[in-house]
Amino acid sequence: MAGGWQPLAGPAHRVALEILLDGPLSRAELARRVGLSPGSLTRITKPMLESGLLVEVSGGPVDPRVGRPSQPLDVVPAAHHFVGIKLTGDQAVGVLTTLRAEVIAAAELPLPDHAPAAVAATVAELTKTLAAQSDSGLSGLGISLGGQVVGKSEVRSGSFLDWYDVPLGQLMSAHTDVPVVVANDLTALTEATHWFGAGRGAARFCLITIGAGIGYGLVVHDKIVDTPESSLGLIGHHPLLPDGPRCERGHIGCASTLLTTDAIVSQVSAALDGPGSADSTSTTRELTYDECLDLAVKGEPAARQVVDRAGYALGRLVATAANFTLPDRVVLGGEGVRLVDVAHDALLEGLHLDRHPESTDPPIVLLDASFSEWARGAAVIAIQTFVLGS
Ligand SMILES: [Zn+2]
Repeated sequence: MAGGWQPLAGPAHRVALEILLDGPLSRAELARRVGLSPGSLTRITKPMLESGLLVEVSGGPVDPRVGRPSQPLDVVPAAHHFVGIKLTGDQAVGVLTTLRAEVIAAAELPLPDHAPAAVAATVAELTKTLAAQSDSGLSGLGISLGGQVVGKSEVRSGSFLDWYDVPLGQLMSAHTDVPVVVANDLTALTEATHWFGAGRGAARFCLITIGAGIGYGLVVHDKIVDTPESSLGLIGHHPLLPDGPRCERGHIGCASTLLTTDAIVSQVSAALDGPGSADSTSTTRELTYDECLDLAVKGEPAARQVVDRAGYALGRLVATAANFTLPDRVVLGGEGVRLVDVAHDALLEGLHLDRHPESTDPPIVLLDASFSEWARGAAVIAIQTFVLGS
């Protein structure tokens, strides 16, 4: 196994982080980024090369001073493995990743119930299954879930598990010696997007997720903007349409009434079952989210209307986020993200309504809709803790 990161401090730490995030990098580029002389850089990287944390790779441009190719520095991503697990209300979804969050394996298990001890045992079992596919052991385990997490360990409230004050990190220590970190799922996904995903290279970006709930994450000046209240799903009740449905809190047309997968499914189902609908698709079985979007793609009028209204509302939400936070790009994700493709024109219409006519559209980047994207986020929290220290 290659050497660890913990003893690194100051410039050595920054050198290692630059290489982890952007490597391989030439010594000249590294010296420029970290503000070191070539001599200092050589002195700092020597022990890191000796410990195996860094390696020299071939393929650099020819260095005119010595007449042979330079040897850029890189990390060995496969020298450290991490497991990330996302908990939903009914399953644990896990991935095994390298130090650069490349997914090596994926697996999932249903949760037997919501009892914390049972969930911890399921997480432990899933971790064991994934760890069996690693040849270097685990350097960290990250667990993420919807809810508020304090101290990277204790779940103050877990919305989909009905948890309050559950010491999940402590429960896990009965099962494993691997360092465990617990995080809010949206925070974890934002960090993964920032370090290793669609946010790479953007100093400012916002992330909006649509699925069981509506999530929002923000990175400004290359740092996540995070407070304990980020986990409350604050934009879920942001007003979007003056004539939309009413939510349980009494708002008309807030995000939660238009953009969640449940809202779209129930509105399409109700429209198809409604008076005058001459449909052969109406069944006693509830449609899935994908079936609702498929109906819209096929041009079923009621489904098309519901889906376009949702896309239009999402466009307005993207406009609001862009207007307030001036992002370099907007990243959209979550298990409902297919809406962006299916209702693309309606989304642009909503976006343009609330943007300045002279403004350019922020580049919109889509994440994968699968839960393993969230699990990868949990792994990134473990990677960050490993690399940066707690
Ligand atoms: Zn509301």
